[in-house]
Formats: sequence, structure tokens, C-alpha cells
Amino acid sequence: MKVLVINAGSSSLKYQLIDMDTKELMAKGLCERIGIEGSLLKHTPAGKDAVKIEEPMPTHADAIKLVIDALVSKEHGVIADMSEIGAVGHRVVHGGEAFSSSVIITDEVKEVLKECSVLAPLHNPANLIGIEACEQAMPGVPQIGVFDTAFHQTMPPEAYTYALPYEYYEKYKVRRYGFHGTSHYYVSKRAAEMLGKPIEDLNIITCHLGNGSSLAAVKGGKCIDTSMGFTPLAGVEMGTRCGDIDPAIIPFIMEKEGITIDEMNTIMNKKSGVDGVSGISSDFRDVEAEADKGNARAKLALDIFAYTVKRYIGMYMAALGRVDAIVFTAGVGENSAEMRERIVSNLDAYGIKLDSEKNKVRGKEAIVSTDDAGVKILVVPTNEELTIAQFAKELLA
Ligand code: AMP
Repeated sequence: MKVLVINAGSSSLKYQLIDMDTKELMAKGLCERIGIEGSLLKHTPAGKDAVKIEEPMPTHADAIKLVIDALVSKEHGVIADMSEIGAVGHRVVHGGEAFSSSVIITDEVKEVLKECSVLAPLHNPANLIGIEACEQAMPGVPQIGVFDTAFHQTMPPEAYTYALPYEYYEKYKVRRYGFHGTSHYYVSKRAAEMLGKPIEDLNIITCHLGNGSSLAAVKGGKCIDTSMGFTPLAGVEMGTRCGDIDPAIIPFIMEKEGITIDEMNTIMNKKSGVDGVSGISSDFRDVEAEADKGNARAKLALDIFAYTVKRYIGMYMAALGRVDAIVFTAGVGENSAEMRERIVSNLDAYGIKLDSEKNKVRGKEAIVSTDDAGVKILVVPTNEELTIAQFAKELLA
């Protein structure tokens, strides 16, 4: 079965076509500037150069039509016709409390997704537009929703309930949800396979460290806690997001600066984190380069990142009781040997010891702890698209 995986944003749409019989990527691409002048489709058939297609895409439905044209095209297509696509798997950011696993999209599911839009106003409406565009363009092809929040639905109430008046949970569903769930699920499962042990027997801390970052405590394959919260703003320091701060800071700054709720939200989501502290960039490579030249604020931004991740590892060691493995994934986690080293430094007393030689790995699966370390440290490149396609295949089996 071939599965088209769609990740729709407000003005963009990423896709991958995966052959689930071989698990091979057949093509991938990105539609940019949907609904804006200068729309562009960048289509890359596996093993070939990217093709740029500049065509107007007033709506997501137009973008999907162009994607299908590219996939079946004589010159750069990878399938003979659309009927080869057996299912479409959609990344959906927020499934609220309604979805603890993937679902086949129906009209009822779409209604629930609309209700969840209040919890993720930037993401869910775009995901829904992507779903409806695919329904139009590919009538009869099953559409599957895979939620970023689903893997975290196993958290116990003491981990997901905020110590606010309980009525806010009852009335507005204010609670910790957690995000990046598909990634935490995939890398914890791969880690168990790499260690040759059943996941049911393992306690794992997964660290998804990229532009957005989160950690999860995974006990026997089930999430028991995660660092992101009601929204993806909580947890460790991120590229442009502040992560955990004392909530009293929010009204304090709003009053001092005379700013609105929207402006404060923008500051916390888009102007904070590594970017806000360093004043240089949200991109870790840029900030590392400046820190190496002696820029004190660049260094501080990276110090905060390493320390906040280490702090969460400590929390999850306590939550899990025993830790068998720590897994690093995503842009920073997979590629920055230096950041991995800083995060797990000085934890020898807990059996966490990195092998500096083995750690010189980038973007490849590897076990990078010393042979005698009690806690294995792994690098596992994430593959959310393959996981979404796998869920789609399993649901339709
Ligand atoms: P992601 O959101 O997972 O795509 O991760 C993006 C982040 O990974 C960016 O901040 C990049 O600077 C960072 N990144 C990618 N490669 C490296 C590297 N070799 N060293 C440090 N950071 C990296």
C-alpha cells in the first residue's frame, strides 16, 4: 500500500509518498505560499533532484491537485495514477482528550476536530483544511488523522492536571496535553529495537530537541509525563519559545510594557527562547557559531537550553524510578554532539556516561554511551511521516 502523508500549515503543505510494503520514501515535497502571490511547489522524487513548479495555489485544494499532478507526472512522477494511493495520513496537532490513537476521518471526527481548534488555533484549522482538500481531490480514498497529542494521553491525572481551580479543567479542558507525540512514540520504539529488548520492560526518557523541543518519560512504552503542556509553549527553552516561566511574570510585563494579551503571546512564542536571550537567531547553528566567537549572550542562551533539558531529565529520572535509556532526536538532538555532551555532563553518578568517540555521530542511529554505562544513551533520527503512514496502514488492515 502507498500512503500519502500530509502536514498542512496555514499557508504551506508538506507531503511524502511512502510505499508501506518496502517502507521506502517515493517522493516528498513542499507547497509554499498557498493563498499568497508567488506560490511554489518543490517536488523531490526519491534519488532525484528537486523540481520547482511555480503555479498559483489560491487554496489548499489547488495545492493538493498540483501535488497529485506532480506524483503522476510523466517527467518527475513516481506512480502511474492516483488509484495507487491507498490512504492519506494527516498530521493533526491537537486531538484534545477525544483521541488517544489515530482515527479514520469521518464527519463526526471532523466535528470533534473543529471543537479541538480552540486548543490549537494556529494549527488545527489548517490541518482540517488539508483534510477537506484531500477529500475533494481524492474521493473515496481513506483519510487518517494522526495526532501529536495522542501518545501522551496515557499520562496519569497528577501529571496532566494543573493546580488551578478544578472547574477550568471541567469547563475548558485546561490540562497538560503534550506534543511531538508521534516522534516520542517512534524513537522510544526504535530505541527498544536497537537495544534488543521488549519496550514493555524499558523506562526511557525521550528528548526531541529541535526548533521546538520536548521531553517525555516513557514507561513500558507508555508516556507518563511530558514537558510541553496545554500548548507547545511549555517546557524547556526553545528556538523562539520561552518554555516554563513563573506565570506571574506575564501580568507583570504586560503592565510594565502596556502591551495586550496578543502582544504578550507573540513575545513568548516568537521572540523568546534562544533567539530572545541571544539576540542573534533562533537557529542553534548560528548561535553556536557566535558563542564560539565569545558572544556571552549566545553562550548564555545555549547554557539555559542545556540546563533546562538536564533539569527535565532529572525530573523524569525521579518520575520513572529507574531509567534504562535516554534518546536524543530532532535537529539539535540528532546533530549536535556538543549539545548532547553538555546535557548529560556530570551525571556519571546515575550511570549516565557518554562515550565522546561514539558521540561523534550526526543524523544516524547510534548508541553513544560507554559500554559500562547503566543507562544507554541513543541517537535516533525521528521519522514522523513513516510513523503516520504506518498508523494509516494498521488502521486499514
Ligand atoms: P528541527 O526543528 O528538528 O528541524 O531542528 C532545527 C534545529 O536544529 C535548528 O535550530 C538547527 O540549527 C538545529 N541543528 C541542525 N543541525 C545542527 C547541528 N549540526 N548542530 C547544531 N544544531 C543543529
